[in-house]
Amino acid sequence: TWANVQQGPPDAILGVTEAFKADKDPRKMNLGVGAYRDDQGKPYVLSCVRKAEERILSNLMDKEYLGITGLPAFVKQAVKLAYGDELAASLNGQIAATQSISGTGALRVGGAFLSRFYPHHKKIYLPTPSWGNHTPIFRDAGLEVGQYRYFDKQTNGLDINGMLEDLKNIPAQSIVLLHACAHNPTGVDPTPAQWNQISETIKERDHFAFFDMAYQGFASGDINRDAQAVRQFVREGHRVALAQSFAKNIGLYGERVGAFSLVCDSPKEKAATESQLKILIRPMYSNPPMNGARIVNEVLQDPKLHSEWLTEVKGMADRIITMRTKLRGHLENDFGSKHSWNHITDQIGMFCFTGLTPDQVAKITSEFHVYLTKDGRISMAGISSNNVKYLAEAMHEVTR
Ligand code: PMP
Repeated sequence: TWANVQQGPPDAILGVTEAFKADKDPRKMNLGVGAYRDDQGKPYVLSCVRKAEERILSNLMDKEYLGITGLPAFVKQAVKLAYGDELAASLNGQIAATQSISGTGALRVGGAFLSRFYPHHKKIYLPTPSWGNHTPIFRDAGLEVGQYRYFDKQTNGLDINGMLEDLKNIPAQSIVLLHACAHNPTGVDPTPAQWNQISETIKERDHFAFFDMAYQGFASGDINRDAQAVRQFVREGHRVALAQSFAKNIGLYGERVGAFSLVCDSPKEKAATESQLKILIRPMYSNPPMNGARIVNEVLQDPKLHSEWLTEVKGMADRIITMRTKLRGHLENDFGSKHSWNHITDQIGMFCFTGLTPDQVAKITSEFHVYLTKDGRISMAGISSNNVKYLAEAMHEVTR
């Protein structure tokens, strides 16, 4: 029956972990996965999460189904966190929103909604490069996928001119995907001045901005700063779509908690939009899981847990920023590398696009037991005080 089914390739990122597991060398490092590790290299559950879990458990809550769009209190908190109290209040009645199966589910539901209802081109433009899952998510949701220039290999920074030119040249009223902060995989974000230019161009061309915000708070350590681009766009009148994930910033990876929202023109439009989101979600998975949403709601709505969370998310961001400084410092000062490594500290978020070529990646893996994706992306969260110097040495050796 299935003779026509051909063996597919393994997932590019999960494949790295499998190779890592098979390696017996004690110096081995897994820089492929996008999950935070503490300075001992261990997975980290936030203490505000542990406390929220205890409360939920002691409340002996039921396990009835959530509604199709999830836990209303959670959705409200997610919207407030993303748009900020002020905007969320002023747009009260205009933001259609639903709980989602983490960021991936938000992107998928959003893609399916646009594919069904966006009245112009059924095509979404992604930055080059973008998170590897974006293309299949949107393609499987029924959209065509196009690209705009983003990363400049020469400078390891943003190709702002190429980006603006492409945004000007694609058909008017196109859908444009933007990473809200901590662009994955490059770690390169526009500056505030560049965001102004991007917003203006998108406005001029009447494009539709779809923000993917998987790292709010995790990039700079400041939840408001990381949401700036989204809020600026909304204040400037863009009717954005937004995918949120609580995987990284509250460390709830496997709980799969996220949200999808759309800024509408009126309460009537919001109501119609939410009714159609329900019609779309119901045959996909009926309704989302409750546990993660309860945890996030508890953390965000309780002032004490909320402020504890802010400290913890800043702690994670700061540790990553410290690793960037150390990695660059060892390369330049201890090993005297002649290459420019500014981009390590200029880039932001979980990932660093090192600039290592595929050959250098193969070499650092085979000779130094350092595992990363072929594009040269390393997860900064996988580096700790104990092995940052070893990594610098390995990077120096393969690039000298
Ligand atoms: N968007 C981007 C850019 C990401 O990096 C990720 C996580 N790797 C996601 C979305 C979604 O992840 P999740 O489904 O785990 O929330």
